[in-house]
Amino acid sequence: MTRMIIIGAPGSGKGTQAEYLAAHFGIPTISTGELFRTHVRELTELGAEARGFMDRGELVPDRLTDAMVARRLADDDVARGFLLDGYPRNLAQLGALDEVLAADGKQLDAVVHLDLDEEELVQRLLQRAAEQGRSDDTETVIRRRLELYREETLPVVTAYAQRGIVVEVDGGGDRAAITERAIAAVGSFLGAR
Ligand code: AMP
Repeated sequence: MTRMIIIGAPGSGKGTQAEYLAAHFGIPTISTGELFRTHVRELTELGAEARGFMDRGELVPDRLTDAMVARRLADDDVARGFLLDGYPRNLAQLGALDEVLAADGKQLDAVVHLDLDEEELVQRLLQRAAEQGRSDDTETVIRRRLELYREETLPVVTAYAQRGIVVEVDGGGDRAAITERAIAAVGSFLGAR
């Protein structure tokens, strides 16, 4: 039973790493970006509300995001733990998550911070934009998403670090090497508690 979060800038590969880490630890991933993209694709009311924010690289308002995550955390498969990918993205969401977990008497075990320098991030994102054509991958939007990450999300890493639950992972290099480093770092962190 492990309750984890993965935090990394747009382009850090956190979505991919989340899948490998979750498979290794036998827990489901909860990716807010994926959940929102599914809502947009399926033309739900939430999708219609979220879409404009996503296309501009802005955060979807907390009330929508927090409610969506709280609903997902109530699902049966999450009883054996989870890996949150893309949430919390700001300090208000961190507070909302604390409340949802505390209401159930639960706590986070670890927060993986995938660290990468900004130039490499921009390069990766521009490459992904060329390959996949995601509507939120234009250069202006990419810069906005990185700025939001710096201003809103890095403080989340700092807050969790003050609780002593952050595991720093170097996000550079190839996919498999990063996965291996992350699994080893999380494993030794959890083992040492
Ligand atoms: P991601 O795939 O995690 O980069 O998310 C794609 C987009 O979904 C983001 O740029 C936001 O517009 C939205 N999103 C994902 N997670 C959150 C969140 N925790 N809070 C607000 N918006 C989010």
